Amino acid sequence: MNAVQMHARATPGFDERVADTLAVLRNAARVHAGRIVQATSLGAEDMVLTDLIARNGLPITLASLDTGKLHGETLALIPRIEQRYGLSVQLFRPAEAAVVQFIARHGERAMFDSVELRKACCGLRKLEPLSRLLEGMGAWVTGLRREQSTQRADVPQYEVEATGRVKFNPLADWSWADVWHYIQTHDVPYNALHDQFFPSIGCAPCTRAIALGEDFRAGRWWWEDQGAKECGLHVKEGTPA
Ligand code: SF4
Repeated sequence: MNAVQMHARATPGFDERVADTLAVLRNAARVHAGRIVQATSLGAEDMVLTDLIARNGLPITLASLDTGKLHGETLALIPRIEQRYGLSVQLFRPAEAAVVQFIARHGERAMFDSVELRKACCGLRKLEPLSRLLEGMGAWVTGLRREQSTQRADVPQYEVEATGRVKFNPLADWSWADVWHYIQTHDVPYNALHDQFFPSIGCAPCTRAIALGEDFRAGRWWWEDQGAKECGLHVKEGTPA
């Protein structure tokens, strides 16, 4: 049974959550016209958002981070999105010199040596390219959901960041079952790794499949303490990562 077949039935309130999400996206696209981007991780949640954006012709740019460490299955989604929706996905990559210098100094497997080095790797492969992705943008859209982890339990539908930029999380109250029900209903392309027990997918060295009963994000940075498990992309200023 694959991820789609497991969630064939809608859960109560599903239609209302879809309508609510669409209303948030529409309003965000109108208020921030020309300055709003979906920063897609290419995970299941973000594929739902891309489908809603494309299906409703919303003027929201699509962009993603190519950290240089993604699975082939993740990268394979980009041409699929472009073919399916006729939209292009802008890719932001880390600065090559910074990566070469980091590897020369700390090695290819530095992320396993300490939390500091793992965060330094996330800093140069994710945070710095994200700052370029968001440059000039008044708003961005993410696929964060409250159910994903305790660190995300309070994710609001939107929030104004310290920079003044607005971050929209229109799937904040969606369940994992909602995500897959939407994917099934609309035949949304998704990462093949989701069918191999990878609910949350990041860089290849730092993501593993999870076992039945494990937490949603148990496969991310599994060798670290629970509290450290964010890469910094979605950590508020002043909040420990
Ligand atoms: S998830 Fe792993 S490989 Fe990717 S940027 Fe962070 S430490 Fe580096």
